Amino acid sequence: MFDYLIVGAGFAGSVCAERLASLGRSVVLCDQRPHIGGNAYDHYDDAGVLVHRYGPHIFHTAAKRIYDYLSQFTEWRPYEHHVLAHVDGKLLPFPINIDTVNRLYGLELDAGSIEAFFASRAEPISHPRTSEEAVVSKVGRDLYEKFFANYTRKQWGLDPSDLDASVAARVPARTNHDDRYFTDEFQVMPLHGYTRLFERMLDHRNIRVVLNTDYRDVVNELRFRSMIYSGPVDAFFDYRYGKLPYRSIDFRFETHDEEVFQRGPVINYPNEHEYTRITEFKYLTGQAHAKTSIVYELPTGEGDPYYPVPRPANAELYRRYKLLADATPGVHFVGRLATYKYYNMDQVVAQALSLVDQIEGVRKPAATGTRAA
Ligand code: FAD
Ligand code: UDP
Repeated sequence: MFDYLIVGAGFAGSVCAERLASLGRSVVLCDQRPHIGGNAYDHYDDAGVLVHRYGPHIFHTAAKRIYDYLSQFTEWRPYEHHVLAHVDGKLLPFPINIDTVNRLYGLELDAGSIEAFFASRAEPISHPRTSEEAVVSKVGRDLYEKFFANYTRKQWGLDPSDLDASVAARVPARTNHDDRYFTDEFQVMPLHGYTRLFERMLDHRNIRVVLNTDYRDVVNELRFRSMIYSGPVDAFFDYRYGKLPYRSIDFRFETHDEEVFQRGPVINYPNEHEYTRITEFKYLTGQAHAKTSIVYELPTGEGDPYYPVPRPANAELYRRYKLLADATPGVHFVGRLATYKYYNMDQVVAQALSLVDQIEGVRKPAATGTRAA
């Protein structure tokens, strides 16, 4: 008899497992994939280069609490992420900043004049509702067309006018020279990779990990008191109200017999090509290797669910599934797929920590919990 069956060994399920185990609860953690880590899983490819199987994962958070919690399971490598966008034949800093604008248009704007430049181009919209409105109301239509319109159409299979403002608002334009992708206080990568972090998190005698197993195949055989579910919420209810849209990506990996492939860790291609971006992993991981591995991302409507699609019709459908979830006793829903939230890793960790606090009450770790070093 287990106290908990946890479905999904990504950040949501693994953090819940670790916290519950430390409170003396017994946990069986199951994942249909052959590995732990969920979409943050990384591994050494055939050439020996550390790659992220499900696309580039860069850790960043403003919350010291989340950074401190994860620091129990890994040492860190300082890493500030940079992205270049391929626009009009140039590689320009993205998010848009003063240098992006100057190099694109051949101008010499500075911190004193960039705001007036944006204001002269912006279309006034008092409450932007869509991603199109969010961008054109800040920087105008030309920058929108060059950097956002096609990237967003490729990434989501939707026009930006059909997506919530919050999607494009993840990468707001800057009025300074800051060319980092994120501005959070904590920007680090796990020194030995994400999978090692997960291995240490799950290395507890109260946790049993079962891989290659769809929970539906074992749920009737296992005995447990409660379930924590981090898979897609619509699948849990057998698509009772229809499919909740999730966006997928086809990842195409290549290894090149050269030390460096491209001029930065990630290059975005808003306008050319079927793919949205190319990532070169060695920049992220700091690995030294004579070869280099990269991944192209080709967004698709088919395949594993990776992204909830933020738009009003989907929020409404999710709301109906959430009512079902709330009315399902003994099952707790957590994570990006189960709560249909476009969450980064740190937000999922925060959500999982809150869930455990809520269902167990905040208690001291039980004396029985032991962790191997
Ligand atoms: P997941 O990691 O998806 O884990 C859910 C698990 O449940 C999966 O392993 C799945 O196999 C399992 N599962 C589902 N159904 C079943 C079933 N029936 N039976 C058994 N197991 C099941 N976040 C950042 O902070 N920084 C980034 O740079 C970043 N980059 C990203 C890039 C890409 C391309 C993607 C797709 C996401 C990125 N993210 C990033 C987001 C990050 O991946 C998520 O926030 C995080 O991994 C979500 O964790 P989770 O546990 O909720 O879900
Ligand atoms: N985006 C864009 N052009 C870019 C980068 C991002 O239009 O060069 C938009 C696009 O809609 C994307 C969203 O901004 O989905 C959020 O970008 P982010 O890099 O945060 O996406 P993620 O890393 O989650 O895929």
